[in-house]
Amino acid sequence: MAAHFDSAVILVADDDPFIRHMLTRYLQREGYQVVEAPHGEAALDLYFCHLPDLVLLDALMPVVDGFEVCRRLQTLTQGTLAPVLMITGLEDEKSVDQAFEIGVVDYVTKPINWAVLRQRVRRLILQHRLEIQLREANYQLQQLTLIDSLTQVANRRRFDEYLLQEWGRGGREQLPLSLVICDIDHFKAYNDHYGHQAGDRCLQEVAKILSQCISRPADIVTRYGGEEFAVILPNTSLEGATVISQRLVTAVQQRGLPHPTAPRAIVTISCGVASVLPRADYLPSDLVFTADQALYQAKAQGRNQYQAIYVMPPSPRQACDAGAMSAAPILGSLWPEA
Ligand code: GH3
Ligand code: MG
Ligand code: MG
Repeated sequence: MAAHFDSAVILVADDDPFIRHMLTRYLQREGYQVVEAPHGEAALDLYFCHLPDLVLLDALMPVVDGFEVCRRLQTLTQGTLAPVLMITGLEDEKSVDQAFEIGVVDYVTKPINWAVLRQRVRRLILQHRLEIQLREANYQLQQLTLIDSLTQVANRRRFDEYLLQEWGRGGREQLPLSLVICDIDHFKAYNDHYGHQAGDRCLQEVAKILSQCISRPADIVTRYGGEEFAVILPNTSLEGATVISQRLVTAVQQRGLPHPTAPRAIVTISCGVASVLPRADYLPSDLVFTADQALYQAKAQGRNQYQAIYVMPPSPRQACDAGAMSAAPILGSLWPEA
């Protein structure tokens, strides 16, 4: 019996009711759940309703034959198609070649040798399940490489990747992109006072507070490095980004983490905000540089606040001038209310 495959679902597509019935009865006796499709079109529909672990596909069916079903499933599932086992009376070289070319992983011939079918079904389902597990494990591993192990927010690698991705999208769709760099104030003094381990816990707490301040799925908080966090805000204007920045500053302040050697005696952050409509003469690294400049201003103005810099669009003359590609962007400032 196939005890460990009890929950496995097999889609059986055959236009011959007798063969379909025989297959169904046999596979059910083996412990599988069976979904029956009397023709190719039904097979396509039922595949997406049941997401089976295996497809048993008759090669010759009227209207949409097994080859065509397999071809369409391959396209629609984009590399995640369950194994397709073809049942065929065709054993000529051309049909066999064609079956493998379109992604059929194995075949059995009619009249059906039940012992052979049983073994092939078992092997293919086992293989498919292992592939799914492997894919899942790879995905988890890949996610781990994008997360900062201390704070559990996205790491610098993810920051670089995501900024570039959203830069491209913003450029294509002409949407603004904002970046907020947050730096903990007087953090060296915090470490000196409480020790490095307490400093680490403070970083974890600040990461949590910042993460709670963003709500759109596209917004991400990343650990940019050391005691600096960067928040990427796609499709967000400078005004929107300043609202978020004020929220970040206020949230950390209101948490009131003790910091006896800081002027305000609590942990605070300063933020530098930059916003741009992505374009060719200004790079993602320029946006980081601009946000850093704004951060520097926030520190100079007394910390526990944000400062923002808006990157002006190029003038029509600049935009037409080929030499403008290397020209420095024009910066405008927007100061927060006190
Ligand atoms: P400012 O208000 O100007 O930002 O001053 P600051 O003391 O925060 O800035 P500075 O750059 O002088 O010091 C940053 C400190 O952050 C120094 C470093 O020890 C600490 N730091 C960086 N990464 C970590 C970390 O992973 N864990 C801990 N505990 N401390 C860190
Ligand atoms: Mg710093
Ligand atoms: Mg600092």
